Amino acid sequence: MALTADVVIIGGGATGTSIAFHLAARGVRDVIVVDKGFVASGATGKSSACVRQHYSTTETCRMIRYSLDVFERFEDLTGGGSCGFRRTGYLLGVDERMQRPMEASVALQRGVGIETRLVSPSEMREARILEETEVLAIRVEGNRIRGVDTSRGPIEAPRVVNAAGLWGAGIGAMVGVEIPITVCRHKINIVTWPEAAQRPHPMVYDFVTNIYTRPELSEHILVGGLDAEESHDLADPDRYKEGVSLDESMSALARVSHRFPVLAEGRIARGYAGCFDVTPDWHPILDRVGPEGSFVAVGFSGHGFKLSPAVGHMMAALIAEGPGAHPDLDTFRLSRFIEGKPIRGTYGDWLMC
Ligand SMILES: Cc1cc2nc3c(=O)[nH]c(=O)nc-3n(C[C@H](O)[C@H](O)[C@H](O)COP(=O)(O)OP(=O)(O)OC[C@H]3O[C@@H](n4cnc5c(N)ncnc54)[C@H](O)[C@@H]3O)c2cc1C
Repeated sequence: MALTADVVIIGGGATGTSIAFHLAARGVRDVIVVDKGFVASGATGKSSACVRQHYSTTETCRMIRYSLDVFERFEDLTGGGSCGFRRTGYLLGVDERMQRPMEASVALQRGVGIETRLVSPSEMREARILEETEVLAIRVEGNRIRGVDTSRGPIEAPRVVNAAGLWGAGIGAMVGVEIPITVCRHKINIVTWPEAAQRPHPMVYDFVTNIYTRPELSEHILVGGLDAEESHDLADPDRYKEGVSLDESMSALARVSHRFPVLAEGRIARGYAGCFDVTPDWHPILDRVGPEGSFVAVGFSGHGFKLSPAVGHMMAALIAEGPGAHPDLDTFRLSRFIEGKPIRGTYGDWLMC
């Protein structure tokens, strides 16, 4: 017999589980989260978990303020223990070209307030999660969603949320919606500090050498790439090179040593690669598209971990109350691409900010 639910969420990563959590807080409790692997088996499990507030559009600033508050009060809000969030401080390295845009970004960030809400532990437990359950098709009758067919049988539901990350375009195609996502490989290297140089340090984003870093325990530094070049390293999310080559590690070490010269004596401890689901303007798509009852929250372009609490909050508002329920939803509509109105921050072509 088919399972039934009010809402099926496809994807058990940070986005899908945050939407389920926020729906439960709004009283929408008959929810099933479906994942073809297991919770956090996609990009979420590989995220560098950098949470920075420096963004250059008002909407993303508001989202990160909301999200930061949730990470800091995670235990109180969820009753699920601490998420291990640690404040390190954040330093942004720019040269003269970026000084004006950075000043504009800082002014913009100062103008943004904080949104918070409390959610009880019992509400948190209301979402059902089915792991190792792949959505194979979405059922549509007339122009209305009727549910999904999974590898373990059907689920009847009037609303389905596409939170499938790297696989989001394929899920969109199931309801005839074209979602402009490319999947590209993103490399991380963990470098060991020379012993004498080990000390606390902030996250550093460096537009000059195109790297970002954050402390990794006390003896290591995590180094990721910021290159637009990376968006051309296209990948199949089910079959991509998860390791990093010696050349890739050496390139990362050379770039991070430019900013931290002492790391010329550092050692590569390990490296790995994950994938980003990148939209043409490097901002997500949060919308109601296709048949009645079809929702989408994909295309996080390397920002989805830190924004996931706010995304859950905004999507739950959209699902429960409709498009007018949150003032920033319109900015992230899918149609912005065919309208020729992509989201642009103050850094122009530096789309990752
Ligand atoms: C190396 C790396 C470093 C990163 N660093 C940061 C960072 O520092 N800060 C930050 O904010 N972001 C970072 N990101 C980005 C962030 O990890 C992602 O944007 C975020 O985790 C996306 O979450 P998601 O839930 O949308 O997607 P995912 O975590 O990919 O979840 C999607 C889920 O959908 C499931 N799924 C797909 N198709 C189906 C189907 N047909 N049926 C059922 N289930 C399905 C998958 O199994 C998967 O579990 C990083 C990403 C990578 C790869």
